[in-house]
Parts: sequence; C-alpha cells; structure tokens
Amino acid sequence: MKLLDGKLCAAEVRAELKARVASLAARGKRVGLAVVRIGDDPASEIYIRNKVRACEEVGIAPLFRLLPAGTPQRMAEDVVKALAADPEVCGILVQLPLPAGLDEARILQCIPAEKDVDGFSAENFGRLAAGRPATVACTPQGVMELLRRNCIPVAGKHAVVIGRSNIVGRPMALLLLNADATVTVCHSKTRGLAALCREADLLVSAVGTPNFVTADMVKEGAVVVDVGINRVGGKLCGDVDFAQVAPHTSWITPVPGGVGPMTVAMLLKNCVDAAERQL
Ligand code: NAD
Repeated sequence: MKLLDGKLCAAEVRAELKARVASLAARGKRVGLAVVRIGDDPASEIYIRNKVRACEEVGIAPLFRLLPAGTPQRMAEDVVKALAADPEVCGILVQLPLPAGLDEARILQCIPAEKDVDGFSAENFGRLAAGRPATVACTPQGVMELLRRNCIPVAGKHAVVIGRSNIVGRPMALLLLNADATVTVCHSKTRGLAALCREADLLVSAVGTPNFVTADMVKEGAVVVDVGINRVGGKLCGDVDFAQVAPHTSWITPVPGGVGPMTVAMLLKNCVDAAERQL
C-alpha cells in the first residue's frame, strides 16, 4: 500500500503556480480572486481562511466581499455582477452554503464562465459533460491531478464513484469518463452497493459518512480515493475505514492530507488559468 499524499502534491502545484503568477506580474497582470461570503457559517470561515492563506503563498491577491446573513437576493446578485465587470478580478468564489432564503443557482449564474473558478456554472458543467475544455470543479479536478502526478493510469480501468453531487460525484464521474475509464456512479438509492464497489479498480467515495467504506467493499489491490470530510469527536476523518481498508489497496488517500489540499490547489490553478486567458 502506498499513500496518495495530497499535501506533497499540492505543494508541488503551488510552487508551479507561484512561477506562473510571477510571470503574469512581469507582464503587468495581477491575479485577483474575489471571495464573496454571505452570513457567518463557522465552517465557511475555516475554509475561506485556508484558501486565502494558499492564495497569498502563491501571490494571488484576495479581495473580500463580506455580506451580512440578511442580505437580499438582489443585492447579493448585484455584488457578484459588479465583480464580474471588474477587470482587476480574475476569478470569483462565492462561498457555499448560502444562508437560507437566498437562491444559490441565481447568484452563481451571475458569475461569467471565464471567472467561474469553482467550475459550477452551467456553461462549464455543460462543456465538461460534452468532453470539451472546461473549468472543472476543484475537488474532482484535484483527484485527477493526484492520480496523474502519481502516474496512476485511469484509461480502461473500472472506476466506481459513490456520490452524485454537483460539486463532487457527478463531475468526478465525467472526468473519469473523459479519461477513458469505465464508470459506475453509485448513490443513496443504489442497490447492491458493496458488490459494485468490489468490482472497482479505482474507488472514489464522496458520501460524508465516517467508516462508510469497509474492507469487504474493496477489491485486493484497488486504488481508493477518500473525498469525505467528517468530524468525529473533534477529529477529521474520511468515509473510508482507513485502518481496515488500507492493507488491501495499492494506493489510498489519507484524511486529512489527501484530497483536501488538492482542492485548494486546484482553486488557485483555476484562478491562474483564468488570469492567463484574460491576458
Ligand atoms: P452531498 O451530501 O451533496 O452528496 C453525498 C452523496 O452521497 C449523495 O449523492 C448521495 O446520493 C450519496 N449517498 C448518501 N448516502 C449514501 C448511501 N447510503 N449509499 C450510497 N450513496 C450515498 O455531499 P458532497 O458535497 O458531494 O460531499 C461529500 C463528502 O465530501 C462530504 O463529506 C464533504 O464534506 C466532502 N467534501 C470534501 C471536499 C474536499 O476537498 N476533500 C470537497 C467537497 C466535499
């Protein structure tokens, strides 16, 4: 068993991005990422802090728009539209979840595809689904990058993805399909989940339940990617029962230190890509 070390890989990605940001700066282009936060969800605060620290490390300038929980829909949309029109802003990130009462889809629609560094817009999603170049959601893109940098082939392999959310499971399945894997997508209504998972050369879990993936669900020698982030007794863990599953795998991601750092690295990459395209 080998560890798929997301911390190490993300540090490599950040070093490459730092050079690209410097080269853009030499050509007079500043890479600015606008971060929109509405309300005071405490988990969002931690996520934003991590993202901002990573931005600063590679030389990306964060620009904050902090709005109170009671912000009306119209005002939230206007803030995003103003950022969309601002040439200093290369990418726009609206931190989710939004407070109840706000229409998330309508707010995200105000981000133009070229500044959509989260890859959540209908245009980017459609391009991904059609197998065309797209800005792709950071977490599944981070998984692909982790596999690529560790020379783990995907083409021809049977990949099983557990979870079908728009931010992880669905784009993950599309990326794997675009990379020539044979893909099975499982979800809460799937029957015979364990047997399907046992068929997987590559198993990706994005459910959000601790110890969801157990040793009897994993084929000997499979690659296991754990996207889940769960908190148990104040400690972070993934979806996979790591102690029991790891000995049966060829590669496995730890939690923390696996997919999480790659997600942040891909956000920065999407932002630098956007800045280069704008130049
Ligand atoms: P979500 O709740 O939107 O989706 C969970 C998915 O799991 C659903 O599609 C559902 O059908 C499926 N599911 C639920 N119960 C199931 C069952 N019994 N059998 C099979 N499938 C089942 O969650 P999400 O936003 O996709 O996130 C999933 C997990 O990944 C969470 O733990 C989240 O915190 C984590 N996450 C991690 C990162 C990262 O950077 N590592 C990024 C985003 C999300």
